[in-house]
Amino acid sequence: MTLAGYINRTLPDDLAGLATLALDLRWSWHHGSDQLWRAIEPDLWDATHNAWLVLNSVSVQHLQSLAGNREFLAIYRRQIRQHREFTEAATWYSDTHAGELDSGIAWFSMEFGVSECLPLYSGGLGVLAGDFLKAASDLGVPVIAIGLLYQQGYFRQALDANGEQLEFYPYNDPTMLPVVPLRDHEGLWLRIPVPFPGRTLRLRVWKGQVGRCELLLLDANDPMNEPGDRGVTSELYSGDREKRLQQEMVLGIGGWRLLERLGRHPSVCHINEGHPAFALVERAQAWQRLNGGDFETARIATRASNLFTTHTSVAAGFDHFPNTLTRLYLQPWLESAGNSLEALLSIANGGQEDLNMAGLALGMSGRFNAVSEIHQRVTQTIFQPWFGRWPARDIPAEYVTNGVHTPSWDSPEADQLWTAACGKDRWRRPMPQSCPLADTTDEALWQMRRAQRRRLVDYLRKRLLAQHCEQDFYHNRDAACGLMLDPETLTLGFARRFTAYKRLDLLLREPERLVAMLNNRDRPLQIVLAGKAHPKDEEGKAILHRWKTFSMRADVEGKVIFIEDYDLFVASQLVQGVDVWLNNPRHPWEACGTSGMKVLVNGGLNLSQYDGWWAEAWNEQVGWAIRPGASFEQLSQDPGHDASDADSLYRLLEEQVIPDFYELDERGLPDRWLHRVRSSMDQLTARYSANRMVREYVEQFYIPMARAGAERTPEQAAMLLQRQENLYRHWPRLRFGRLVQVEEEGQQLFTLDVYLDGLGLDQVEVDMVAEASDAGGRVVEPMQMIQALAGSTDSYQFQCRVAPRPEGHYTPRIRARDEQLNLPLEAPLILWFR
Ligand SMILES: *Cc1c(COP(=O)(O)O)cnc(C)c1O
Repeated sequence: MTLAGYINRTLPDDLAGLATLALDLRWSWHHGSDQLWRAIEPDLWDATHNAWLVLNSVSVQHLQSLAGNREFLAIYRRQIRQHREFTEAATWYSDTHAGELDSGIAWFSMEFGVSECLPLYSGGLGVLAGDFLKAASDLGVPVIAIGLLYQQGYFRQALDANGEQLEFYPYNDPTMLPVVPLRDHEGLWLRIPVPFPGRTLRLRVWKGQVGRCELLLLDANDPMNEPGDRGVTSELYSGDREKRLQQEMVLGIGGWRLLERLGRHPSVCHINEGHPAFALVERAQAWQRLNGGDFETARIATRASNLFTTHTSVAAGFDHFPNTLTRLYLQPWLESAGNSLEALLSIANGGQEDLNMAGLALGMSGRFNAVSEIHQRVTQTIFQPWFGRWPARDIPAEYVTNGVHTPSWDSPEADQLWTAACGKDRWRRPMPQSCPLADTTDEALWQMRRAQRRRLVDYLRKRLLAQHCEQDFYHNRDAACGLMLDPETLTLGFARRFTAYKRLDLLLREPERLVAMLNNRDRPLQIVLAGKAHPKDEEGKAILHRWKTFSMRADVEGKVIFIEDYDLFVASQLVQGVDVWLNNPRHPWEACGTSGMKVLVNGGLNLSQYDGWWAEAWNEQVGWAIRPGASFEQLSQDPGHDASDADSLYRLLEEQVIPDFYELDERGLPDRWLHRVRSSMDQLTARYSANRMVREYVEQFYIPMARAGAERTPEQAAMLLQRQENLYRHWPRLRFGRLVQVEEEGQQLFTLDVYLDGLGLDQVEVDMVAEASDAGGRVVEPMQMIQALAGSTDSYQFQCRVAPRPEGHYTPRIRARDEQLNLPLEAPLILWFR
């Protein structure tokens, strides 16, 4: 089928391939094609970076004249050839795992940040989703992504003359977005039904191509729908609970039904956050439609190949919906499949009243993971309510540290340098740690850094003009328009959501100390920042306002630049040019954080709170950490650390960052600085790439989960359910008998009697547990069965030897065991001696 049929005009035969090129969002990261689009419509391409829009806007006459232009044809043919080579090339997946996941991975997310011209994201979660898809495409992993097509996306930001945030919601005309309607064999638009109270919502579907991966987007704006329903997918994070529930139904129920309609039977379903959890429920219901049986059987049959990734650090961040809404919306949907809302709520709620989407995701999944090592610990704590008396440390949250799609974030200069050192295909294969920059000279590194900084300054000046600096300036027009920025000055940058826990105002705690650094004549500093505050986050807006006001001080003007309307493009410019990227969230609130990873490939350095990914990545050679080694204890609102963290931040800048940047060796190069740049690029670029992240998901999760899922045939599922129910039936009657402790050869010998109420010895595990204390680290010692007790059936004696601890430190426990169920996730049963 030719894609050219989708645009409003016919393309000249010689240029028919342009439609395919324009619809593959690969142009958003593969900058080889910039030349092509710029040759067609330079201004439009530079303003929008939307190849589809360029192609739809150009006149027939112009296209015809291009078809006769030999120079253009040469560019065009090269792009077509490269695109074909890219599509047909063998990949990491086809070489190492072909056949293992060929039914595909269904990947659900509320947001996708693939390109600034497809504004379906608000921040980190969406950008991660976009980077994930791009890396999956590079590696050839068969991911099919499902999301929503928002007519307005997230709000667009400007600041007024007083530094207050203004919010705009421009309408995205979907026909101008680089996506096409998904049609059936007869050319009709697919319409996917989702049950709404007293009516059926019909969803249109749009298809985006992200390299080798498909991105399918559901859209409620169909004239067939009631007027009120047409706006269901209008905006992202409106704050309205009912709309939010509607959107999550569209994504989950509509998304799964779409896959069914397309005849896809994915090997694994992966949900990014809990928002798409209804997809897992609909997957179980689809299983029921096919195999019959009740919901519990369907749940056990399907969940082994469902993966849930959580990105949240606070329980308050979980989406939840009140009874009034769930009764109205979910009951009819569930009951029409013979299921009940009560069953769903009991899976989801961990003792709460409202429907908790993270709980639902957990209860429908075979495994779940956090997004950094610290976040794993935080996740174990906030998911404790779903695990009864399981200690946080034993809650089976796993983790995969996030990563960024390196080719989307590198600068042309960095691209050149890495290509010279490691070859063209370096980001498409597993990135070997064996490609250090040993042969790259200090001079080349420094030239790259300087060229990148110069380009950033040029960009900032252009951008400030577009921000109307010429009208808004306060004291000094040159300052407002970035003319005082200096391409040789140490440039500090940061950009993120303005919200309290991110503490973007930490650097403003002692303004005079900052002013002194900015104004140091010999060793100056300049700062560029960007970020939006959620329209309802007054505290975030106040912090933003403080920065803007600070930047307008007469003695600071021109040295602190606020860039409005932070998006993927602004991010890409900042991370290419800044020398130091700053991130200082309140520990341990940052689940992972990814913006700092984007500077690695470009030789930018990180100065960051020892939190999220930086707690794993940091060492003395690669950058600077605030409160290094801080351990996770309790997630707190406690601002008690703010003053000392601010002091550390100032001191790092004053005593290390600034001197290292400006102190030159006999070659005229900042050798200490460049040593760090080299170490950071060498040690961290590959490790914090989405390439590494996607391979971890494939090898540690998707492949084993697809196998586990395939084993759960209807018969197996029925048997597993019986075994699970059997555990639940007997568990309340398990009992402990005597616990005897004797000292023996410097050890403590514990002997314990237990009564198993008919459960087999292969269905339980008995451990002796001591929590970490002054007496030593945590101990979990398995106890061995030594004899059946004669006095009653099902009674046994267990024993173990452990290093001595004070009285009361050791406590025995019984937990359920099963070869095939993933415990404790699928049956969080535990019984403590006391
Ligand atoms: C990378 C990125 C983010 C996420 O950054 P964090 O450090 O995780 O907060 C948000 N928005 C945009 C536009 C980004 O590029």
